[in-house]
Amino acid sequence: MGRFILLVVALFFLVWLVRSALTGRKPRGDADAPPPGQAELVQCAHCGMHLPRAEARSAGGRTYCSEEHWRLGPRDV
Ligand SMILES: [Zn+2]
Repeated sequence: MGRFILLVVALFFLVWLVRSALTGRKPRGDADAPPPGQAELVQCAHCGMHLPRAEARSAGGRTYCSEEHWRLGPRDV
């Protein structure tokens, strides 16, 4: 009986080892993070132009293409 318990414990340890190895190899990236080299496009809340997020200005959960449109604010309000 002692051997059987040891076998079960060893089996559980093996499964845990394999699972941790698999999850460690495939890290779950954030859904928001775009893959490198592929810029995420956002839309200007004022004129509707699409531009990369890195070039956009954001305020109040909205994005704008330029400082002028950022100052003018969203057009559809
Ligand atoms: Zn704009």
